[in-house]
Amino acid sequence: MKIAIDFGHGTGEDRGANGYKNEELTVREYGSLVVKGLKKLGHLVYNVTPMQNGMSLIQSLAYRVSMANYYKVDLFVSLHLNAFNGKAYGCEVEYISDKGKEYANKICDEISKLGYKNRGSKYRPNLYVLKNTNMPAILIESFFCDNKRDCEKYNKYKLADAIIKGVTGESVDLQEDNTKQNIDIPSINHSIENNSYVVWQSSNGLGYLESIPQKGRVIIHLDKYNYISLQDHEKEGNHIRLYTRTKGWKDLI
Ligand SMILES: [Zn+2]
Repeated sequence: MKIAIDFGHGTGEDRGANGYKNEELTVREYGSLVVKGLKKLGHLVYNVTPMQNGMSLIQSLAYRVSMANYYKVDLFVSLHLNAFNGKAYGCEVEYISDKGKEYANKICDEISKLGYKNRGSKYRPNLYVLKNTNMPAILIESFFCDNKRDCEKYNKYKLADAIIKGVTGESVDLQEDNTKQNIDIPSINHSIENNSYVVWQSSNGLGYLESIPQKGRVIIHLDKYNYISLQDHEKEGNHIRLYTRTKGWKDLI
């Protein structure tokens, strides 16, 4: 089978969610194992994630769709993590076609065997990547990155294996060899959001200050994934919140 794998977000305006886990980083971690396993089972895998920095949202999405259509793959798989209000949890897989629904159901079943609540397959006719790809297409929201218990259950090998099993019906040993295989892991763009006003950036590229006036927020960054956010906003309230790449966020106030 020819399969397109799309590692969600990671460029310009197209950003993933941040919670106890960072969506972009986590997707690239378990997603590279999905690619490895599918290749091991003999499938032809195309990575359709854009590698260019600074794309607009529509450019980022259109790139993924065009590549999948160009390669005429049999299945398009977009990998994501969900985020809502910190309380929602579980896995869901979004689809648009009947064939997509079959895959979505199987993948939900497999991921829920890892202890995640099965939120089921969801018909999403307006999702850009589902609507514009010419083949069965699914978008996997493996779990909620802003839900602590969901994040604690995360195991990259088990999650990748569940997805592979949902797609192919087969299981594969992902931990077997530790030798570096030729896997394309798309890079993550560390550029600064363009809706912010940057007042300072250090000369060695590490550390910057970001201001989001419409949210009453100033953020002090070590890098894109490690920062302290200070907010004073009429609707969203006040916080001093610490984010780290590995531990997620913690409210200091
Ligand atoms: Zn996403």
